[in-house]
Amino acid sequence: MHSSYRTHFINKQTTFALVVLVAASACSSDQAQLRYAASIEPAGMILRELVGDRAEVRVLLPPGASPHHYEPKPSDARFAEDAFATFYFDNEVDGWAARLGDERAISISGVEHSETREHVHNNPHIWLDPIAVQRCIPELLNALIELDPEGTTIYQANADRFSESLKRLDKDIQETLKDAKDKAVIQAHPSWNLFFDRYGIRVVGVLESTPGASLPPRQFAKLVDTVSSGDVFAIIAEPQLARAPLETLAAGKVPIIELDPLGGGTDRYEELIRSSAERIAEVAS
Ligand SMILES: [Zn+2]
Repeated sequence: MHSSYRTHFINKQTTFALVVLVAASACSSDQAQLRYAASIEPAGMILRELVGDRAEVRVLLPPGASPHHYEPKPSDARFAEDAFATFYFDNEVDGWAARLGDERAISISGVEHSETREHVHNNPHIWLDPIAVQRCIPELLNALIELDPEGTTIYQANADRFSESLKRLDKDIQETLKDAKDKAVIQAHPSWNLFFDRYGIRVVGVLESTPGASLPPRQFAKLVDTVSSGDVFAIIAEPQLARAPLETLAAGKVPIIELDPLGGGTDRYEELIRSSAERIAEVAS
């Protein structure tokens, strides 16, 4: 369709118009091939905010899979190979994507990460803290501009907008979670630590510090005592992790809230954070 249109056009128009047309079609074909790979859905969510329609963003981790133990498929390697770059968070969470992307693998948490780490007890689930994400934007923007300088104005405008929306989001969540402040939760896995730290919720226990590794019986018994003492207002489950030990722990005394750190069905970052905060707020008031 393109070539017949172009032939038709050449017959009728001036050389100047031809140059414009060729330039325009070269541009659009470049854009068709402009693609980025993202390790897990939250990396895709953040990247899509900055990229908009400028490029294709494809998430490698299939829905329902746990990022910690994912074995990439040959099709993942092919996509990462063809992509301009592969974005991921951290070796502990989604390092397999960094290895696929080789030298074009870019950590979203990047420079900010080492600083953040010290403050948050080595927790790599940085995407669940909207302010930590906001602080990653300048580095992420620089990386995109370096990869695709022609997209600079688009990336810049998107980055500014996303940054502002994250500040608003943070203020909203402070409000949403005001009744949960200083209250305590137990988590299936330390995914939400940064989020809870940000909004003043205490984490008094974790069942699987590494997914799949269950707690020694004595430590589990301690958590049962903690729940019995009435100090815990909710137990946080994850769809990727075993539910049975949480049911035992809750013993019908404490609500279990299932929060998916990967977004579970939404592809919008704000929606991931807002819907999770609302579910916590429901049981905290
Ligand atoms: Zn994790």
